[in-house]
Amino acid sequence: MSFNLDNITRENVKGLNPYSSARDEYVSDGSTMVFLDANENPFENGVNRYPDPQQRGLKTILAEQKGIKEENILLGNGSDEVLDLLFRAFCEPKVDNIITLPPTYGMYKVLSGINMVKNREVLLTNDFQPNVSEIKKAIDEHTKLLFICSPNNPTGNSFSTKIIDELLNSFNGLVVIDEAYVDFSSEESWMSKLGDYPNVVITQTLSKAYGMAGIRLGICIASAEIITVLNKIKPPYNVNQLTQEKATERVLNQQAVKNEINEILVERKKLVNALKTVSFVEVIHDTDANFVLAKVDDATLRYNQLLAKGIVVRNRTTQPLCENTLRFTVGTSEENNIVITALKALSN
Ligand SMILES: *Cc1c(COP(=O)(O)O)cnc(C)c1O
Repeated sequence: MSFNLDNITRENVKGLNPYSSARDEYVSDGSTMVFLDANENPFENGVNRYPDPQQRGLKTILAEQKGIKEENILLGNGSDEVLDLLFRAFCEPKVDNIITLPPTYGMYKVLSGINMVKNREVLLTNDFQPNVSEIKKAIDEHTKLLFICSPNNPTGNSFSTKIIDELLNSFNGLVVIDEAYVDFSSEESWMSKLGDYPNVVITQTLSKAYGMAGIRLGICIASAEIITVLNKIKPPYNVNQLTQEKATERVLNQQAVKNEINEILVERKKLVNALKTVSFVEVIHDTDANFVLAKVDDATLRYNQLLAKGIVVRNRTTQPLCENTLRFTVGTSEENNIVITALKALSN
């Protein structure tokens, strides 16, 4: 294979230089520097200054924890912004295309529509793995991005390492591995293989295992060359001051994060075991995430029955390969007891 980043970067992006603010060069080190460069209000209130556009403090901690370099990281306003930047950097509207593997995360398709980039859908196989031969057939010279969501939403399973490896080795565009649920998985992150693949882009988020969906922090991990291209089009202050502070506090408290993940994994097992005893549950799919996809007799009926009891789950019945499935997020022990009790009451 012959991956060449220059060949897949949009012409207009190649010529851009990142917007440079004075604050790119000087970050307050708490010393006696006087900042009269950015027309800010000088009266301190914690957020009167523009945030660090490169989020250096947070990146230093993340790089150390993940065993990568800061130059391999770009942070965004949620993974959704990171994914959008990939479209805008690499996909020429009305010319290029991407490949997604339904049933999967809906945002890839939404972003392809917004960016006027054709979305070629290649269904997963019946055991929810990428269909390598069909994917290869769908690739042409205008295919820029291949989205791999592993563990996959809404199916919950991780994709085979061998299959992902084969796709990385045979595709000359970028393989985007969305690891939003990797912290719940028994599989390792692809981060450790960053050096082996020039075309891999990994996305992670603080929205799931880290319990910070409200602050919007997405993480993009890729070669320094890819990160440099993305930095050219990133809005300078895309990660606000409050988010940088909250995220820093949280990632420094790994023990609290690990404890919550462990509790969620225990609860996941409890939920799976309970679902096995529910008469109208037909299949419980293996999960590597913080949710369980289950096939029931009539998903819309069961969805409405749960709703009437004040319980909101996700009805995935309209998704391909997901007929009559419901997706249950693993909640607290109390919340899971409520849904289990409700399911048992409906089960006779
Ligand atoms: C929840 C989720 C995300 C998270 O997106 P954010 O914008 O970071 O909140 C990303 N990818 C998948 C597959 C998800 O399910």
